[in-house]
Amino acid sequence: MTRRAIQAICLALFVYAIYLTHYPFTEYFPVDAFLKLDPLGPLSAALVARAAVSGLGLALLMLLLTAIFGRIFCGWICPLGTLLDLSDRLIRGAKPRPVKVDQRWLWVKYVILAFLLGAAALGVNLGYLLDPIPLITRVFTYAVAPMVAGASNVGLDLLRPVFEKTGPYWLARTSIDVPRFGAGAALWFLVFIGIVAGGLIMPRLWCRVLCPAGALMGLFSRFSLIRRRVSDKCDQEGDCARRCPTMAIGKDRRTTRQAECIACQTCRDVCAKRGTDAVSFGVKSAAAPASPQPSEDRGVPRRSLIAGTGCGMAAGFLTALDPMGLERMRTAVRPPGALPEREFLRTCIRCGQCIKACVTNTLQPSGLADGLEGMFAPKHLMRLGGCDQSCNLCGQVCPTGAIRPLSMEQKRHAKIGTAAIDRGRCIVWEEDRACLICDEACPYDAIVFRADELGVRRPYVVEQRCNGCGLCEQVCPIGGRSAIRVSPHGEFRLAKGSYIELARERRMTFEPVGPTEDSFEYY
Ligand code: SF4
Ligand code: SF4
Repeated sequence: MTRRAIQAICLALFVYAIYLTHYPFTEYFPVDAFLKLDPLGPLSAALVARAAVSGLGLALLMLLLTAIFGRIFCGWICPLGTLLDLSDRLIRGAKPRPVKVDQRWLWVKYVILAFLLGAAALGVNLGYLLDPIPLITRVFTYAVAPMVAGASNVGLDLLRPVFEKTGPYWLARTSIDVPRFGAGAALWFLVFIGIVAGGLIMPRLWCRVLCPAGALMGLFSRFSLIRRRVSDKCDQEGDCARRCPTMAIGKDRRTTRQAECIACQTCRDVCAKRGTDAVSFGVKSAAAPASPQPSEDRGVPRRSLIAGTGCGMAAGFLTALDPMGLERMRTAVRPPGALPEREFLRTCIRCGQCIKACVTNTLQPSGLADGLEGMFAPKHLMRLGGCDQSCNLCGQVCPTGAIRPLSMEQKRHAKIGTAAIDRGRCIVWEEDRACLICDEACPYDAIVFRADELGVRRPYVVEQRCNGCGLCEQVCPIGGRSAIRVSPHGEFRLAKGSYIELARERRMTFEPVGPTEDSFEYY
């Protein structure tokens, strides 16, 4: 009961953190706490970046706690684990039928971990693909949050006539912004459905077989001080092995696969319920020795681990090689304060926090066009929305420091790219028609009109004043692709140091100005 209550509280806190990740930001709750507690994300980011990333301290603390208490993260804290407990109960009922599982299934997650570490050793961060907390955060960001917002609007629409008559009247005028994401984002929802459907095969199939974070913590939990202990009262007749959600109990029920045990204590409860009371959890001692490893276990074959590491290194090598030269061809505009591109891709765990927090919905997960290494990293889709010049949330919520937390002034100077006019599409250049919408939208007066030899005034971008906010691209009235587009050309990407200083050195100035004369001279 205590564990269930703690699981419920952790899940509620996780959902609350997701909810709080929006504009305006409230700093009283650490919205990235779960992302930092999951040791695999910060650890693999640090390994790939070969530097201490933000959140590494908490990740190491979690590993230390695992070495003391066992895999408590999996049994008590992990929101994905809790959701799987819930879905498994729905799928299989309170008293599930026994499942026969070959222990070789348990090895798969160690091979996956070896693969991810192999890729990390060559500087490519693939850990995010199967890391449970970034994964479930993406599911909530890209699927659950838009669905909840959409459903709330449907409910509000239905009740609007009632609110208009009886109040509260403000509810009659309320509607919730529904965040929009590309089709690629739906992929994560399908992945989640697949993980839940794993319950049809066996409970917590994901945790038993696939989760690399579980495997990492399993390595540390082998040495844990607090362990399952089984006394001589055990008659080998109980249901404990069948009810264990991770197959941590061997054929001999007095034995325990310590690396698999998630300290959920189901076996103790089952045993106590039938009156045997042979199982307890605590520090091993002469009076209460720890339960030994099952004699039938042979451990993960070395060949599989070597093959996993080798494949990971090969994947890392091929990705880092960038055979198509995608890095040079990159068109993705990264959020303000993003580390230099290579470090950024190494440090970003694709959790989608910045994307969730983005007030204008301009941040979107990258697709394959940005290369395998760039997949799912945040980029701007200016056509959907420019970067709001009064918001600096993405850097505040990033758990690994892939986007630096910046003051508003620093953020304004963190130039993310430069706008360029496509003269073949611009109606002023191409059709000699009047338009100054981009000029009106630009907060920095970076678009000016200059008369050509015939005296017709045409728009130009002043690169020294454009910080790439993309508001011009958003509002351009041309259908489809905008006639003014922001590219990463001229972006400022600093791992440390001041953007204001850099702008000063390059004689650039990004000071907001009101409408200027040239806007009106045109007409
Ligand atoms: S095995 Fe992975 S998904 Fe399952 S509870 Fe542990 S960390 Fe969470
Ligand atoms: S950049 Fe965005 S997606 Fe990447 S780690 Fe930071 S918050 Fe998560």
